[in-house]
Amino acid sequence: MSAPDPRLRKITRSKPGQHPWLAVESVLAFILVVLAAVHSIHFVLPHEILDTILTAQMAGRLELASAAVTLVIAIAICALIAERLKIQSVMQDELRLRQDTDLVSGAATRGCFLDDLKRAVADHRKRGSVALVIIDVDHLKQINDALGHGAGDDVLGFCTRIARQAFPGARVGRLGGDELAVFIRSDETIPERYVTEACSTFLATLREGLFIANRRQAVSASLGVALAPAHSDNANELLSFADLALQEAKRGGRGAWSVFSPEILADARQERFIERELRAAILLGQLSLHYQPIMDADGALNSLEALVRWQNPVRGVISPAEFIPIAEKSRLIHELGLYVLKQVCDDLETLPNVPVNVNISAWQLAHDTFLKDYVGVLTRTNVSPDRIVLEITESAMLDTSDDFIERMDAIKSAGFRIALDDFGMGYSEFNQLRKLPFDIIKIDKSYIQNIGTDVVTDTFVSAVTQIACKMERTVVAEGVETEDDRVRASVAGCRLFQGYYHQAPASRADIVALYCAKALADVA
Ligand code: C2E
Ligand code: MG
Ligand code: MG
Repeated sequence: MSAPDPRLRKITRSKPGQHPWLAVESVLAFILVVLAAVHSIHFVLPHEILDTILTAQMAGRLELASAAVTLVIAIAICALIAERLKIQSVMQDELRLRQDTDLVSGAATRGCFLDDLKRAVADHRKRGSVALVIIDVDHLKQINDALGHGAGDDVLGFCTRIARQAFPGARVGRLGGDELAVFIRSDETIPERYVTEACSTFLATLREGLFIANRRQAVSASLGVALAPAHSDNANELLSFADLALQEAKRGGRGAWSVFSPEILADARQERFIERELRAAILLGQLSLHYQPIMDADGALNSLEALVRWQNPVRGVISPAEFIPIAEKSRLIHELGLYVLKQVCDDLETLPNVPVNVNISAWQLAHDTFLKDYVGVLTRTNVSPDRIVLEITESAMLDTSDDFIERMDAIKSAGFRIALDDFGMGYSEFNQLRKLPFDIIKIDKSYIQNIGTDVVTDTFVSAVTQIACKMERTVVAEGVETEDDRVRASVAGCRLFQGYYHQAPASRADIVALYCAKALADVA
């Protein structure tokens, strides 16, 4: 899209019907009518009267003058009418342009872009090709939240401009909130390499960033590429393939591109299968729980962690590591969380009398009904919130924004305790450790199993335990598999221990047999 015609700004400001030249045209038309009237006096008045008023010479001159003025005015009116028609057509073009252009980004609107894409794919079905790239601007929400919606709009406009530079001749459209798309068409086959090189150029230029409030803001995006007819000769399918490639790019770490491949499609089908089956398993109550003990320094049971287990009739045992990330992509994770909590509450009566840790996903905290729903389960099952610790896995979702801290404070005010799970996996910073109101910090097993083998691990673990000690928080060592792990974790300052060394996750019945019997024996 080229820059709007400067004349348009002038024109579009005046309302239709109030055109400034309308008055000029009217005056000219009026003069024309007067002249015509004067001219027609010949035919109206009898010759005798005319001859007494005008001499023959005067009449001749008057006629000549009036014919000349009439001609000039007629030309002027024609010119004005031509100009008006020209302006009207420019206005119509502008109106069409406005309807087809997203005013925030300057890209084509979704509807217009998709129509053009469909047409291009159909045109190039027999000869040539189309390359489609879906662009997802990373962290646009955070930019909007931190710098205001104006900044978010600027970023979208910037991305559109850079897309036009990096993909010359391409059509750029806005598909939705933070999603743009680009398609290139050619009568030749577009080489995949050409598209991926353009993707690299696009990302590199985005990284240079734009100025917002006098500060340079780097921008990153994830890109998904699909080619027609190589991947599909149907525009809708091409879109969904590019979208799958985009999801793949996001999974591999943002700020990257990915080209569609049949393997991606197989993975997506597998994901859809798991999502469908998991939904059914939740409805039919086919998920079960295992519990893993968390021990104190004296080897006594401190608490239990509830871990969901799924035995699928077709696929057999499916690990939470496989289905939790899929559930996290939809509201399913919240339904699963409520299912687990309800099961834990039902089990509490028979379990050893210690708190039970329940895993929640940071995505769940974004649900407005999260706390209400969780408290609702406790109320219905008559369980006190101090029996439950909510374990939030460290993730990119954990931020130190006021909104997030408020949500966590509300959870604590409701009586729950909160643990930061898998700390050290790479998302959290010490800053988050200080700012977010966690009661318990669980150090990830990758650190615990390497204590004493490298300096970075040792420094990290002792720094965490020192901060925790100062802030009166408890540190749990996860993945304690050997006596050595336990001793080293203890020396590094951990006070609680969880891992196969003490006990692998086990069914409720096994835990009851192991720990309730032990408690009875201890009393005896
Ligand atoms: P997590 O919460 O960090 O749970 C600990 C994981 O480590 C469990 O894997 C457990 O079986 C395993 N583990 C325990 N001790 C050891 C050890 O000594 N060595 C090793 N190598 N592993 C050990 P699991 O049960 O496969 O769960 C994996 C993850 O899935 C959990 O990690 C948690 O993030 C997630 N998850 C499990 N249940 C739920 C749930 O109900 N809701 C949510 N949102 N996530 C869950
Ligand atoms: Mg956990
Ligand atoms: Mg963990």
